[in-house]
Amino acid sequence: MHSHTWDIVETLARRFTEHDDARDLSLHEQWTLQVLKIAEETGEASQAVIGARGTNPRKGNSHGWQDAHDEVADVVITAMVALARMRPDAAAYLHQQLEAKAAKFLPADHAVLFSSTELS
Ligand SMILES: [Mg+2]
Repeated sequence: MHSHTWDIVETLARRFTEHDDARDLSLHEQWTLQVLKIAEETGEASQAVIGARGTNPRKGNSHGWQDAHDEVADVVITAMVALARMRPDAAAYLHQQLEAKAAKFLPADHAVLFSSTELS
């Protein structure tokens, strides 16, 4: 991951939190709406894939695969912002979760390799 990625994510998280604070939303309301935003972006990614595959005869090929890539990136970014809004240790927490998930799918020698990887 690019070294500035989490700096940007945390800056976005602060911006959205300030906006929601100004609207007098409670912390849990803010977290709830941010998680719903992930679902919104997931829907947009689904819509792009449906459009790229041309499965809706009424709409045809309304999207390309680049649109799907863009929307999948939106899902990732929105999820990272959500995590940053919910946890001050978001980067370390995500890394820990990634290691735990990877260990379930990768042979032990790969899991050991990744567990020694530094956060960047
Ligand atoms: Mg989007």
